[in-house]
Amino acid sequence: MSLGIYKEEFPIKDTGDKEAKYYIKREDGLTVKCFLCPQGCEIKDGEEGKCLVRVNKGGKLWATSYGKIGAINLDPIEKKPLFHYFPTYKILSVGGVGCNFSCKFCQNWELVEGVVPVRELPPDKLAYLAVKLKEKRNLGVAFTYNEPTIWFEYIIDTAKILKELEPEMKVVMITNGYISAKPLEELCEYVSAMNIDFKFAKEEYYKEISDAHFKPVLSTIKRTWEIFKSTGKPFIELTYLVITGVNDTEADFEKITDFVAEISPYIPFHISRFFPHFLMSDRPPTPIRTLEKAYEIAKKKLKYVYVGNVWGNEGEHTYCPSCGKILIKRYSFTSQIVGIKDGKCANCGEKFFGVLELN
Ligand code: SF4
Repeated sequence: MSLGIYKEEFPIKDTGDKEAKYYIKREDGLTVKCFLCPQGCEIKDGEEGKCLVRVNKGGKLWATSYGKIGAINLDPIEKKPLFHYFPTYKILSVGGVGCNFSCKFCQNWELVEGVVPVRELPPDKLAYLAVKLKEKRNLGVAFTYNEPTIWFEYIIDTAKILKELEPEMKVVMITNGYISAKPLEELCEYVSAMNIDFKFAKEEYYKEISDAHFKPVLSTIKRTWEIFKSTGKPFIELTYLVITGVNDTEADFEKITDFVAEISPYIPFHISRFFPHFLMSDRPPTPIRTLEKAYEIAKKKLKYVYVGNVWGNEGEHTYCPSCGKILIKRYSFTSQIVGIKDGKCANCGEKFFGVLELN
């Protein structure tokens, strides 16, 4: 959840026009329980949930960040990161305020804590803008930067309009995976790809660093993978941020690799470099050697592994898991498809796991 450090100085302006989904009213008629995410907040009249953006007013829960954005950019899809989903495309990326985690290393804390100026961007305008940017190779809309789960209603309303305007355009989200089973299933009808942060392999780290729990995140990854296998979407990639002195031991790397391999060795797995930030500014950036160790360990069991936030590293490229030839070359957020023909490795014919082109 947001830490709420700047709640008084930068209150989130409430336009109060969108009722939240996934809550029940308690017997007193005034208290509500939100079950959109596993935090399961009991919220009294006049108060907000841990994410700061679902507010109880007179026994009704309102999604107060609906249609309010604090950041917008046309990003390379690689920046999300999504490496196997329309590489070389761009995606219109938006972020808002609030979060259902309280990560002490948050890389976007100014957004999450509501310190940045916020402006209105209703779903129809966002969808229209995405379509307008199609000529710049825009693939659709990415809900990213802060945690998009708490933007549930905004994502779905935008996705519906976008589908009407341009059915082939995509909605993607970059998420911590902290969402209850039912809303996840509803969201998966509208979202075409996700990168899920698989932050830690242990409960105590989730509790201590992010004030959350491990099992719900694992359940989200497993359920999303099952939905992908049966419906063909959402495509899924995972990110593991290696934080100095927290989750950076070989035992941690073995454990997280085993969890992913058990779900599927085909899920692209990004091992990402930490930079000191927010309440963890005292830690050094992850040493490159540590990331390379994690890469070596993960590569033994997973087909597609990446080193992220280290430009020019060999671990940025996509290699064929069968013959080892480079399929996609990368530097930073730019990529070039060099070894794929008709969806297969041009050298050995191994099928590439991913989506390359719009129909
Ligand atoms: S979405 Fe927000 S209000 Fe609802 S349970 Fe999660 S943190 Fe609490």
